[in-house]
Amino acid sequence: MPRKYQLINCILLSAFLISCSSESQSQSPDRESHQHFLNQITYQSAMSNSSDHKKIERTEEEWKNRLSSEEFRVLRKHGTEVPFVNKYNSHYEDGIYVCKGCGHPLFHSETKFNSRSGWPSYWAPIKEDAVIEKEDRSYFMNRTEILCSKCESHLGHVFDDGPEPTGLRYCMNSAALHFVSKDETEDD
Ligand SMILES: [Zn+2]
Repeated sequence: MPRKYQLINCILLSAFLISCSSESQSQSPDRESHQHFLNQITYQSAMSNSSDHKKIERTEEEWKNRLSSEEFRVLRKHGTEVPFVNKYNSHYEDGIYVCKGCGHPLFHSETKFNSRSGWPSYWAPIKEDAVIEKEDRSYFMNRTEILCSKCESHLGHVFDDGPEPTGLRYCMNSAALHFVSKDETEDD
């Protein structure tokens, strides 16, 4: 009875897919503690830690354990996320965007603007030395890559078509950022 087998196959396939998706959603202990570490960052602590540039170095395995596959692809493999449908493209709350890799304060919401590029864009980093610039000649283009100055993870690129006062556009990947709200600390 082929139809019966089809039904059984369908049930088995569904069960397999469900178990796969729940497995990929379950977080490793390292990823959980990394997320916990990011959640502990307050607006005040981010403001006062923005001058701490002590380097953070991790092995590829350690990064993989801490980050989701998309975060790992962007931060550690210089990837670019899909425009417009990412987390912070249309996000305009008051606060600080810190590095998803190490919690280093990178951008203040005061410098965020709508570039219509589909990626979160800022006209300046929170401090000049919060990020590192690096020449990027990949994909037959001549661009300036932006890295976190603390863990040297890839964040995005900077272009010279931004608004005043700097004329710069720091085009970042949401997957490389973690937002720390200013309001949350005021409520505490
Ligand atoms: Zn970092």
